Amino acid sequence: MIESKQIQRPQLVLVVDDHEINRDALGVILEDDYEVIYAENGKEALEQMAAHKTDLSIVLLDLMMPVMTGFEVLEYVRNDEELKRIPIIVLTAEKSAELQSLQLGAVDFITKPFDVTEIILARVSRIIELSEGRQLISAAENDSLTGLYTRNFFFEYANRLYQYRAKGTLDAVVINIEQFHTINALHGRDFGDDVLRIIGDEIRGFLSETEGIASRFEADRFDIFCVRRENYQSVLDRLQRRANNISNNVNIHLRMGVMHGQEGIEPVQLFDRARAACNMVRGDYQNPLMIYDEEMRLRELRNQRLLNDLHTAVLERHFQVYYQPKYDIQCEPPRLASAEALIRWRHPELGMISPGDFIPLFEGNGLIGVVDSFVWNEAARQIARWRDTLHMELPVSVNLSRSDVYDPTLEDRLVALVEENGLNYKSFKLEVTESAYTDNAKRVLDVIRRLREKGFEIEMDDFGSGYSSLNMLSDMPIDVLKMDMKFIRNIETSETDRKLVMLILDIAKYLHVSVVAEGVETEGQLEILRAGKCDLVQGYYFSRPLPPEEFEELIQREIDTERE
Ligand code: C2E
Ligand code: MG
Ligand code: MG
Repeated sequence: MIESKQIQRPQLVLVVDDHEINRDALGVILEDDYEVIYAENGKEALEQMAAHKTDLSIVLLDLMMPVMTGFEVLEYVRNDEELKRIPIIVLTAEKSAELQSLQLGAVDFITKPFDVTEIILARVSRIIELSEGRQLISAAENDSLTGLYTRNFFFEYANRLYQYRAKGTLDAVVINIEQFHTINALHGRDFGDDVLRIIGDEIRGFLSETEGIASRFEADRFDIFCVRRENYQSVLDRLQRRANNISNNVNIHLRMGVMHGQEGIEPVQLFDRARAACNMVRGDYQNPLMIYDEEMRLRELRNQRLLNDLHTAVLERHFQVYYQPKYDIQCEPPRLASAEALIRWRHPELGMISPGDFIPLFEGNGLIGVVDSFVWNEAARQIARWRDTLHMELPVSVNLSRSDVYDPTLEDRLVALVEENGLNYKSFKLEVTESAYTDNAKRVLDVIRRLREKGFEIEMDDFGSGYSSLNMLSDMPIDVLKMDMKFIRNIETSETDRKLVMLILDIAKYLHVSVVAEGVETEGQLEILRAGKCDLVQGYYFSRPLPPEEFEELIQREIDTERE
């Protein structure tokens, strides 16, 4: 048998420069590894490209040339379906030209006088390699959608710019679309794609006036690396205005985080901070722009500290579970019906930390499971303890985080807790925040259905803070609706809020779901809710969350009243 070995032809490189000395210099560098052809101006370059459009691997292009400049070549190639697959590296002596070239579609630049041989060779081979994989990458990441760079390319160029430009002159900007997954879920992927495309177009519009490069980094996140400016509000306003015009029915909210370029901070870090800033304003529709600053840096340090201290806190019992009562208000006097377990962190050095400060932090990185397990354990044991000492099995609800719902061992763990402590399933209630339902509705609904079949009662927490609409409720396997505090806050003064609350109560009644009103602080609020036939109330009006010893007194008082 004859062994056929395919001989690899060297890859073909086109060098375009009007100065012979430059062509020669590059030729000397490249000829050992590549087959090199030459052109003296833009016009010749285009002719060569057309002649070799299938086998040309890369073009090294000078910008300033007679007859036809490099810019004109870039412009032409960008609009030519066949030629634009060929990567072009720009040869430049001018610091200001490199960004413009990238905007026109060049993939990289080499500085004149020429960099050392190794750098040029490394860059040429890297770009060929990247561009051969480019179709694969962009197909996989589907960024044909916006035409912006994919993340790999983007960082490649951002790093190059960072090396080449005076340090600290380029800002990192991250843009995100609020609740994009919900927009997709409610209005379809095609609509979601339209939104991304339009935002992408507008970003390109911005970059036609400002020097910079942009990428759709992932899903609904856009990254921009652009020359320093002071005012980003106007940039966000411009994008938001465009977003407002996409649809009359769908509100699209953008948010933006910015990290100003700073000497010694590399693009990856700049974008990490811009992203952190952008995450800080998640859900804040009033102030959707955040510039990373000293305060944020301190907050990040603090967060880091909390992450580091989590393990010790569990071991040394710095966490403590508080209980807040829920009262049945349809009887007179109102009767203690159940409680909610709420975590507190007594940090030995930082003092009392409220869950609002650390729950979102731990939710972001999966550590929340540790905290939740601790609370569930404590709460289950506490119910059993009160049952044994006070002869009353007071139901307690615990909070489930989004990520808990995705944990395949969830059901077994909860069942084990109930069984070990000999509780009724109805005594260990589960609060699932509304936003978990909209994340991945089907998955969540499956999990919840199974838990209900076991006998657990499910309360939908924070109802009204997210996107689920009242008509979705009819399909949801829930037993109790917890109305978000923001509805209650103004019911005494706002006619609209009062009507909204009454509407929710009516619909819940119709669906045979009972309602807990959260955050009830005044007698006036209580009376309105009572008149509206709201079943249960939780709030400072009755009691703040209490440590177990104090809560026990509250149960004792309840027992005493009932005896009377
Ligand atoms: P949530 O589950 O909606 O809990 C109700 C929050 O409202 C509690 O805040 C409670 O102290 C507060 N609250 C109750 N009544 C009133 C009132 O009348 N006025 C006002 N202004 N506030 C009231 P807290 O304890 O700070 O907890 C905040 C959130 O942190 C909880 O909201 C819950 O989402 C989360 N959380 C607390 N403990 C846990 C836990 O063990 N696991 C998980 N995953 N999340 C928890
Ligand atoms: Mg709750
Ligand atoms: Mg709540």
